[in-house]
Amino acid sequence: MPRNNSKNSNQLVFLALGGIGEIGMNLYLYGVGPPHKRQWLMVDLGVTFAGPAEPGIDLIFPDIRFIEEERDNLAGIILSHAHEDHFGAVMSLWPRLRAPLYATPFTAALLRAKLIEEGKEGDIPIEEIPTRSKLDIGPFHVELVDMAHSMPESNGLLIQTDAGTAFHTSDWKLDPTPVVGAVTDEARLRKIGKDKLDALICDSTNAMRTGHSPSEADVAKTIAGIIADAPHRVAVTTFASNVARLRSAMDAAVSADRHIVIVGRAMKRIVQVAEETGYLPPEYDFLTEDDYGHLPREKVMALCTGSQGEGRAALARIAAGGHPRVTLTRGDIVLFSSRTIPGNEKAVGRVQNQLADQQIKVITDADALIHVSGHPRSGELEKLYSWLKPETVIPMHGEARHLEAHADLARDIGVKTVIRARNGSLVRLCPGPAGIIGDAPAGRVFMDGRLPVLAGEGPVEERRRLSFGGAVAVSLVLSAKGDIVADPQLTMIGIPAATAKGIPFPEVILEAAHGALNAIPRRRRRDSALVAEAVRRAVRAEVKLHWGKKPPCSVMVTVI
Ligand SMILES: [Zn+2]
Ligand SMILES: [Zn+2]
Repeated sequence: MPRNNSKNSNQLVFLALGGIGEIGMNLYLYGVGPPHKRQWLMVDLGVTFAGPAEPGIDLIFPDIRFIEEERDNLAGIILSHAHEDHFGAVMSLWPRLRAPLYATPFTAALLRAKLIEEGKEGDIPIEEIPTRSKLDIGPFHVELVDMAHSMPESNGLLIQTDAGTAFHTSDWKLDPTPVVGAVTDEARLRKIGKDKLDALICDSTNAMRTGHSPSEADVAKTIAGIIADAPHRVAVTTFASNVARLRSAMDAAVSADRHIVIVGRAMKRIVQVAEETGYLPPEYDFLTEDDYGHLPREKVMALCTGSQGEGRAALARIAAGGHPRVTLTRGDIVLFSSRTIPGNEKAVGRVQNQLADQQIKVITDADALIHVSGHPRSGELEKLYSWLKPETVIPMHGEARHLEAHADLARDIGVKTVIRARNGSLVRLCPGPAGIIGDAPAGRVFMDGRLPVLAGEGPVEERRRLSFGGAVAVSLVLSAKGDIVADPQLTMIGIPAATAKGIPFPEVILEAAHGALNAIPRRRRRDSALVAEAVRRAVRAEVKLHWGKKPPCSVMVTVI
């Protein structure tokens, strides 16, 4: 790519609005042009699933205000692959951007399937592009490079511009035998390194782990061995999107002369899309939940959703005996062919305990090699660096500890410039010295029911406080002279009934309220704000004395 030296101000910049400092809601922007007139390319538009720290919230989206304002300069959005953390926000956020949306066939098919399920078919036009293709998106020449991952069609992106060249790995690993999907295209990557690469923006997820990841083919062998030896029913749960793992389990079932039953909506959706796009062989015969009960115990393998212990997913319902058609009993085996995402340990543990209680054998990746991650360990990162020889590296797709481990590794290998960017850091990649040159608004947006609220501004923090200490509300009615004219009203939510000595808390609270009121001279009681604050403080202090906790307290004072 020729450099445009006549316009020194023409720069290639990078800006993450999500995905750096976290594993989730990936949203990366590349910008080219002079600072006041940049064109943007968006890579991925992902979601994060909320956990117990965000009570009442299901989904968390990146704050897209920056690019929404720059919408006229957004040349396009390209989806690297179909994991939720990379494309899960498209349905909700694309309508605010309305830029051309590019995806490879498997990703496009999954997005279409989701749109159909939501009754939004046709709402979002998807430009389907072949894998390994080259396309121009505004001033960006983009080339897709095959990267192996835990789902088909993870695309690395070579982004060439007048100002310079960057390679965005997205999620990847090295796996010479990935069972389904392409291997990482070493030859192309080596060639990119020979041609000079200004900047590499690279996956950090497993940077803290040394060596190389085991291959998906090794996982397949272990699963096949377990299923071949299983005396009764086998259920396998994994991320539905892991088509290679589904294939491994299906192959194992077929060679053990078992029928394959698909259980759970997400699993059915992926299997259908994978068949349509050629990632599962058409000769496989899948039975439904209705067939399950008619099959001999040693002739069935169920593929179930619910590897993260999700309460509404198939496996949790089966474990609790609440699935209408699929049951497991003593002597059956359940394979958790997955990693438990941090935050889900309790939910997964609950399901595993329920199964163990029924003497159903649970096998996890701690027992056998039945799962492998889709992200590169340090040995794989070193190899990629040796192929690409980047001038500058930005670790992405990781929490702080993963990013730091990745940055250390890059420096040890001898990369000239390693940039520790975070969401919102505007980074000049080239030309000239790479570095952080500014910042842009970035943050998290919680979906609270139907309402989006900025993290830190919404009611979530309050909700969390309520979950620890409940709440108290007191209502007082005073005469103009400052006398109480009606019995104070009290509401308690999540407060214990009585103190250790058996005094009912309503009594404790009302006494504290009376005490506080009596301590205020009559003429000052007309100041209802003053009365409310004094009562609030007294109630909280008294409750703390007996309970050890200080619940939020609201006091309403009416003067008549
Ligand atoms: Zn991924
Ligand atoms: Zn990812």
